[in-house]
Amino acid sequence: MSSIPSVPQPRNEPVHSYAPGSPERADLKSALERMAGERIEIPVIVGGREIRTGDTAEAVMPHAHAHVLATWHQAGEAEVREAIRSSVEAQRDWATWRWEDRLSVFLRAAELLSTKWRATLNAATMLGQSKTAHQAEIDSACELIDFWRFNVAFAERIYGEQPNSSPGVWNRLDYRPLEGFVYAATPFNFTAIAGNLPTAPVMLGNVAVWKPSDKAMYSNYYVMKLLEEAGLPPGVINFVPGDPAAITSQLLDSSELAGIHYTGSTRVFQHLWREVGQKIDRYRGYPRVVGETGGKDFIVAHSSADPEEVATAIVRGGYEYQGQKCSAASRVYISDDRWSEVRERVLAMLETVRVGDVRDFRNFMGAMIDRVSFDKITGYIEDARETDGAEIVGGGVYDDSVGYFINPTLVRVTDPAYRMMHEEIFGPVVAVYVYKASKWAETLRLVDETTPYALTGAVFARERSAVREAFDALRNAAGNFYINDKPTGAVVGEQPFGGGRASGTNDKAGSPLNLYRWLNARTVKETFSPATSYEYPFMGEE
Ligand code: NAD
Repeated sequence: MSSIPSVPQPRNEPVHSYAPGSPERADLKSALERMAGERIEIPVIVGGREIRTGDTAEAVMPHAHAHVLATWHQAGEAEVREAIRSSVEAQRDWATWRWEDRLSVFLRAAELLSTKWRATLNAATMLGQSKTAHQAEIDSACELIDFWRFNVAFAERIYGEQPNSSPGVWNRLDYRPLEGFVYAATPFNFTAIAGNLPTAPVMLGNVAVWKPSDKAMYSNYYVMKLLEEAGLPPGVINFVPGDPAAITSQLLDSSELAGIHYTGSTRVFQHLWREVGQKIDRYRGYPRVVGETGGKDFIVAHSSADPEEVATAIVRGGYEYQGQKCSAASRVYISDDRWSEVRERVLAMLETVRVGDVRDFRNFMGAMIDRVSFDKITGYIEDARETDGAEIVGGGVYDDSVGYFINPTLVRVTDPAYRMMHEEIFGPVVAVYVYKASKWAETLRLVDETTPYALTGAVFARERSAVREAFDALRNAAGNFYINDKPTGAVVGEQPFGGGRASGTNDKAGSPLNLYRWLNARTVKETFSPATSYEYPFMGEE
């Protein structure tokens, strides 16, 4: 076929409501029951081959930690070596596929996820990562579908960007993939991010070795199976669960490393960057290092802000998914003439918030992902209890007997430099600093300078001049900046996501900016009447 095809125009996947009586609720409930009643085995998948190494670990439900969902096999040195070999070999063929053939695999994956696989992937995310039905729907269904459909359209747009040609010449850009494999290291908290990190480079002809998070193995395995069903050829993505430090070190030793696509904590990203730097002379090229990392996301409320709106933003932005979103609001600055109203409203909402097993749809929050996380967050709560100048205003209650549950917690601090105002807690704990209404400009400086992070942030104000001041003063304090809205819930195609400073390389997942990082353009100049003499006219006799 000879044609220049246009890909279907993407539209954001509609979010299903899961309201009582809806068909999607019935589907999801039955998937939850079926999947909770079985115990699966998750292999390593390399070159399309399922490998059971016998060196196993377990995936449990965070909200019922005695319940094992899966036994998963850990890749050892031999499997990692084979994953590198198999991806490099697969790339020889994959990189030569016509772009429309490659991209159609992901359009089919999006379609499968929108229909046949939706309940399975949402149920897996609920059971394994303790998300509510709504939080799973906006992540493992809608966001992942959007990543796949929008990235396909962005790829088409990039391929169409071509240079000018002067008379007698045809200039072209050949958007080659990188030579070698991309290492995708993915976080636990979004199934969509886990699916996007290996697939965004792969759409463009790259190949990936994907190391899923130990804490999201269950849903991530289903993403891999879905991609296989969509027609992804063997070896293009190799699924390699196992010891993060050992696998990473082996992959970063390889001369075939072409890039790292990472999302997770800042500490691990800095370690990866350092390792690549130390090993730089062994790689064929300069590996592309792309990472979205931690946050300490703010809400700053001016004295003209509406207290009801601020309170709602705190509850939704701070506590949904138990505060385990990189974008979760975790430090709040409130003008002293608004604080008591905001406080009352937040506490009134928290009284109605239910925390518990996500299979009970009345719950607004589930459990923390694991014991390490539970211990870390409760450590912050206990520290606040013992610190003068920190007062637990709401919540502060936790219980790990059945699941890793922590109630939404609101802490008022009098010292704006207290650790809760600048360290990432990654749990349902929101710290509030109340400032004097007359100190708006000073407070904006405080927001800007208190933490090394710069991921998301929100300003609430009715006075336009206050919005404008915050807009300018906080220009570099957040990669995603919200005006009168909570700082979470970015949608692919609408609010490209990513932060600067210690929060990452800000390559905006789900946007063309990210895809460019996985391309290595070749410029081609073709001349139709090649020169036949080296001399120029100016050299002629007078
Ligand atoms: P994590 O840092 O524990 O893990 C991230 C990945 O790194 C996982 O695949 C993990 O197995 C791997 N890893 C862990 N230790 C390693 C080591 N020593 N060497 C090599 N690899 C290692 O993060 P997490 O708990 O899965 O996710 C939460 C973190 O991710 C938070 O800091 C959050 O802010 C961040 N996050 C950021 C974004 C964003 O877009 N900026 C999105 C989601 C999550």
